Amino acid sequence: MFKRSNHTSLRDFARMGLMVANNADIRDAVLTAFFFVDHHLRSNRSIESGVWHPSVNVIEMTYGCPRNCRECYIPLEKRRDSSIMDPAIIEKTITESKNLGISLFVLVGGEVLSEQMMPILESTVRFNKNCMFVVCTNGDYIAKQGIGALAKVHNISFSVSIDGFKEEHDFIRGHGSFDNTSKAMDVLRDSRKAFFVSSTVRNNNEATLFSSEFNRFLKNKGVVYQGVQRFRSPNPEWDYSSEKFSDHVSIIKNNKGLYPVPIIHVHMSDDLLSQDTQFSYIITGRDGDIRIGKVEKDYGNIKDEPLSNIIKRVRNG
Ligand code: SF4
Repeated sequence: MFKRSNHTSLRDFARMGLMVANNADIRDAVLTAFFFVDHHLRSNRSIESGVWHPSVNVIEMTYGCPRNCRECYIPLEKRRDSSIMDPAIIEKTITESKNLGISLFVLVGGEVLSEQMMPILESTVRFNKNCMFVVCTNGDYIAKQGIGALAKVHNISFSVSIDGFKEEHDFIRGHGSFDNTSKAMDVLRDSRKAFFVSSTVRNNNEATLFSSEFNRFLKNKGVVYQGVQRFRSPNPEWDYSSEKFSDHVSIIKNNKGLYPVPIIHVHMSDDLLSQDTQFSYIITGRDGDIRIGKVEKDYGNIKDEPLSNIIKRVRNG
């Protein structure tokens, strides 16, 4: 049932740690290193015990997003709904996760960052100092507004989506998107925040995403690691092939020194409850539904029962 991660080794973590220490405020660096290593060790302990313990809670803060990227994973009508998660659900899923030993939270959208979201985000992160939060963003808000008071909070980092240089990125994400993403990375670097990028590999950008030229560009931007995943579509014919993706992964594994920024490859496994370090997570949907991995099925709603009950249900299949 469980698989050890086939791609993130302690050496990868050490390289990432060095990048964080060089690029970020020392308090961000220490907290990022501590919580990521904790997550990694917790995953490995679970493999040894044979009992599935999620170590990350991915919280869908909103489905709203004003952009219109090609093949966005969120249907258009959901993206046009800018409502955000009820703060009571946010606090409940965080508190109950902490009680179960989960201290790493990835906040996703839609687009997480907006005027409406910033005060909620700030109070959530400040109130939960014994946790780490990673905010996934397309960079638009940061490019225009910066990160405000979050620059002074250290248990938060950012993951910026980037799908290549301007030509490839704007083809996928719309005109002007690359410039915003690039500016957002400058803001984060200059604020000495620990931050990552997330890139989705497609046929039109594969050459760029794995090139040392692009990787050097990321290093100069202050990026700590580049996470890559293969493109998947509701229409399987449009998927980026897993064979081609595996080939890239092998090349990366054998030539890590070529890439100034470590590349971490995710979404390799189809094993639902894999203890792969990137996969031992639960998802809290905007309305409190709890899911895992890529499965649409929800296992219960945190508004109705304790998270511990729902996790037992997942374990029992
Ligand atoms: S930025 Fe993200 S959520 Fe928004 S349209 Fe693009 S892929 Fe979808």
